[in-house]
Amino acid sequence: MPGGRGPLAAQEVMRTGVDDAFFMGEAIAEGRKSAGATGDNPSVGCVIVKAGAIIARGATQPPGNAHAEVMAVQAAERAGHSIAECEFFVTMEPCTFQGRTPPCSSLLVEKKPRRVVVGIQDPHPRVRGAGIAELRGAGIEVVQGVLAEEISGMLAAWLERHAEAD
Ligand SMILES: [Zn+2]
Repeated sequence: MPGGRGPLAAQEVMRTGVDDAFFMGEAIAEGRKSAGATGDNPSVGCVIVKAGAIIARGATQPPGNAHAEVMAVQAAERAGHSIAECEFFVTMEPCTFQGRTPPCSSLLVEKKPRRVVVGIQDPHPRVRGAGIAELRGAGIEVVQGVLAEEISGMLAAWLERHAEAD
């Protein structure tokens, strides 16, 4: 039937938007767990979703240790999941440079998830959208700005310190 899928497609889009907010809420909750324990790093949270269910979670660890994305990838792979079939929800865009740990953007490009949903941009002068651009350049669908206000509120102290340091 011509045009028969129109209403269904619209419903699908709406449902996805609701799910994005739900899963980002879960990523925020994960990030809160490491609040105060990440030194000068922001307490970022990440969840990995496969077929509509959370299969792994991660939060940024103390300085020099794994970021949220790495923790979540390790948990997913330990459980035997292929990242290529999954969606990522991460409260801040993946970092793009070698600091005390390797860049998370390289890890995601290598694992190539179906989709990455980002809360806020990393304000670091060496990132600022570069993580999102790198993922898109690798052909990964990226959505940004989901629950951005809530995340900015949660990371307000860190974001403020960062602005002062620039
Ligand atoms: Zn990182």
